[in-house]
Amino acid sequence: MKKIYLAGPDVFLPNAIEEGQRLKALCHSYGYEGLFPMDNVKTGQTLQNIAMKIQEANKKMIHACDIVIANLSPFRGPEPDSGTVWEVGYAQALGKTVFAYSHDRRSLKEKTQALLNLGQSDVDSAGMSIEDFGLTHNLMFASCVVADHFEECLKIAVEQDKRINPLREIIQLGNPLLRKLAHPVEDITLNETQTLIQELILTCQASNGVGIAAPQIGVAKAIIIMASYPNERYPHAPMMEPTALINPHVHAHSKNKEKEWEGCLSLPGIRARVPRYEWVDVRYTTRDGVAEEKRFEGFLARIFQHEYDHLQGKVFLDNIESTHDVVMEQEYRSIIREIDTKGSLP
Ligand code: ZN
Repeated sequence: MKKIYLAGPDVFLPNAIEEGQRLKALCHSYGYEGLFPMDNVKTGQTLQNIAMKIQEANKKMIHACDIVIANLSPFRGPEPDSGTVWEVGYAQALGKTVFAYSHDRRSLKEKTQALLNLGQSDVDSAGMSIEDFGLTHNLMFASCVVADHFEECLKIAVEQDKRINPLREIIQLGNPLLRKLAHPVEDITLNETQTLIQELILTCQASNGVGIAAPQIGVAKAIIIMASYPNERYPHAPMMEPTALINPHVHAHSKNKEKEWEGCLSLPGIRARVPRYEWVDVRYTTRDGVAEEKRFEGFLARIFQHEYDHLQGKVFLDNIESTHDVVMEQEYRSIIREIDTKGSLP
């Protein structure tokens, strides 16, 4: 899961912990992990010592994050919180993408005049001129202020992130999202569903997979992609254009099962021989909303059953007959080579 550092004076709120949890829950609902400065509880001998530890921990979080969302609302005056401004600069210097929001998006001049009761004066009470480029904030970082409140800013950040990098992170065994039951997709025509399908296809292709299911990117929806082709991971796979199968189910299957090799993008480095039905008759809806009925046989039937299992929160290791059927990737490759030289398909 990509990480978003949540910068802002929210840490000074009387209910800072709850506010941090609220922001993190919102990040999670968009498929991102929120990092809130108060996640780091620091103790020390002196106040200075504690302060240094908090500073180091916050810097570490900024290094670890992919995106920073900063609250640059007026704080004790017309300007934002100085700690947040420092973090924005630090993150920008590290090449992180920074998005910010402010509850007051009047120009810096208007805001300063109003909040400091300066009337129409171009200078403050000390005679210092007020920056006036018609921007909401100081020109050094005004361009990153894109919204009035957190969720609007989060949506903009997520949209841009997905446009730049449509590939999604594949979650690994141990992540509880991989064990959740997927829900049926109700509206296939929704942009959100079509984007998800596209992201699944691109992620599957980029990972040299022959299939992927939405739960593998942490989305509990009944969508699987089958995209079989011969490749390094599956040298003998047949060709099948990347196809989305929405709300699939099996309505008939062969009596017998056959045991062959499988791997999974959520369990890299592990292969196992898994018994699967030789053929399955399935019903599903296409990404254009058309109801389809198909029989998959052999390797395609195997891909279907493997991906279908993901929709039930299962992985291929749940179906093995013996732990002796599990091997590591390196050994699998030598087994495949050996079978190939003997002339039979694995
Ligand atoms: Zn899998």
